[in-house]
Amino acid sequence: MNINKSTIAQLIKKILTEIDPEPDREGLRDTPARVVKSFEKLFGGYQVDPASQLTFFDSESYDEMITCKEIDFYSTCEHHLLPFYGQAHIGYIPNKKIVGLSKLPRVVELFARRLQNQERLTSQITACLDRALQAKGIGVILEATHLCMQARGVEKQNTIVITSSFRGLFKNNLNTRNEFLKIVNA
Ligand code: ZN
Repeated sequence: MNINKSTIAQLIKKILTEIDPEPDREGLRDTPARVVKSFEKLFGGYQVDPASQLTFFDSESYDEMITCKEIDFYSTCEHHLLPFYGQAHIGYIPNKKIVGLSKLPRVVELFARRLQNQERLTSQITACLDRALQAKGIGVILEATHLCMQARGVEKQNTIVITSSFRGLFKNNLNTRNEFLKIVNA
């Protein structure tokens, strides 16, 4: 997001004025500037191509499943501008190359720090890694809590939304998929 800070600050100020009878009180005085700063973080995923962050190594004939689980992420629901957050689990079976492990959380973060819905976030992570790795199979599972469900709407406090996306062996081979699910749920 190449944000125009003063435009955003002015718009936030306008929203505060519509919501609160005392928009100029001390607690709200610096809120527009603070929101701009937090937007820069929350929507900072637009400037960087996640694929450009990946580094690769020779798999040295390792051809078993690699799983990186419980990757924390924070995102913003594009329908309500409220946070949804949780954990991502990523597994793949390499085809000659493996990816630097610390790069997987980075890819999740860059896609999450945009206006999102959980389904798209899941498939974007899968598509990016699939394209970059040309793996034999890949699986991505996201578990998330949505504030738009908890604080408004259905007001269901303990609902967790789970989305998944599978490619290659993870999609076509039940054993592979079950192995991945077992590791994730262990
Ligand atoms: Zn929502």
